[in-house]
Amino acid sequence: MNFCDSERLMALLEKEGFCAVNSLQDAQFIIVNTCSVRKHAEDRAINFLRSNINLKRKGKIFCLIGCTANLYGKELLERFDFIDVICGPNRYKELPEVLSNIKNGEKIVLTGEVENPFIDEIKNNMDVSSLISITKGCENFCSYCVVPYTRGKLVSKPAKKIIEEVKKLVERGVKEVILLGQNVNEYGKDTGENFVDLVEKIHDIEGIVRIGFLTSHPKDVPEKLLYLFRDLPKLYKHFHLPLQSGSDRILKLMNRRYTISHYLGIVEKVREIVPNISITSDIIVGFPGEKEEDFMETYKIVERIKFDDLFVFKYSPRPKTKASKLPDDVPKKEKERRHSLILNLQDKISLEKNKAYEGKIENVFIRKSSYKREGYLVGRTETEKPVILQGEENLKGKVLKVRIIEGFRHYLYGKLCENNK
Ligand code: SAH
Ligand code: SF4
Repeated sequence: MNFCDSERLMALLEKEGFCAVNSLQDAQFIIVNTCSVRKHAEDRAINFLRSNINLKRKGKIFCLIGCTANLYGKELLERFDFIDVICGPNRYKELPEVLSNIKNGEKIVLTGEVENPFIDEIKNNMDVSSLISITKGCENFCSYCVVPYTRGKLVSKPAKKIIEEVKKLVERGVKEVILLGQNVNEYGKDTGENFVDLVEKIHDIEGIVRIGFLTSHPKDVPEKLLYLFRDLPKLYKHFHLPLQSGSDRILKLMNRRYTISHYLGIVEKVREIVPNISITSDIIVGFPGEKEEDFMETYKIVERIKFDDLFVFKYSPRPKTKASKLPDDVPKKEKERRHSLILNLQDKISLEKNKAYEGKIENVFIRKSSYKREGYLVGRTETEKPVILQGEENLKGKVLKVRIIEGFRHYLYGKLCENNK
């Protein structure tokens, strides 16, 4: 979501005459986009600005934007005097004007909500893959989560606008769109539209070859959505469905509003409809009051479901949330132990799942060049598994036949099939 916001803000700033530079030394404004989901992310953002404080003396303007900015507002200016501008995620549209007129020594705070927080501008030179925020905000108030306090109420972008935007993206060379929302299944709750219809409409757009989306909340998954994975060939057969905990008691304390048996029902159904679908999830360990028995339920369910991949987080108390009023009573060491137990288990499962791809021929969408290995490309299978392969840059945006040579923990290694057969 932040990556997407930063791109759109860059497009807006470029339109207003600003340009990106390659080094901090050359910049007039240093803008840091922040995440508040865990404390660690917040600390990293502030420390980045602090560690460049010498640049302040050269008259550069420091801007802290994003969720952290909205969460603490002007309090941040009092605590960190090196920050000049605070801007929450719903107020980015005002930044170009503010930055154009700011005087040295002036302090500015832009927080809170607005009716239309979406930035319509799109960068001129786009990659073949693009993220699109279809909703902003969230009102689910999972008890551990800061997002409802940082991003505010749910606002859906009208489907008509999204369709226009996707068409514009196609004109600029985009072939793949990933639809983003804190809970995409609530898309249109505020406007009377709905997510399944939106995906179908995007699927009809010529020039788009792959569509993905995240995140889905298990309390809001209609059966119709599961059939889309089977019926829409451009849609990735990949479902990111955060579980958070394997214990009904903890799920209740988290205010997730589903039970384990409901979650298992969705997994069973979607695997029945699309047997090779890849399913990924998020887990939090060490939530307040999580006993060994609760944790073991999570462990067992991870063992039973066999996700394709898993993001495992150590619980981090967040300001304003309900859970932050409960004692953070799982010791740090114990959180670490539970974290590594699940990760080790998942390492084995992911490796086994990726090994099962060896020898298969997959239709791979070539997304980008590899940052790490020169001469290599990164693509995605129809199940959205990353594939690394050797190839020329001009293959980006194509769907090609690739033979999977080896499956690793985090990716598949493949080779282009001759004559694409
Ligand atoms: N809207 C999405 C994701 C929100 S944040 C959803 O509902 O799933 C992404 C992930 O961060 C969450 O799924 C959760 O696993 C994790 N997370 C959120 N708040 C956290 C906290 N306070 N401590 C640890 N992990 C957290
Ligand atoms: Fe946070 Fe829950 Fe909303 Fe996801 S659904 S953003 S976890 S409150």
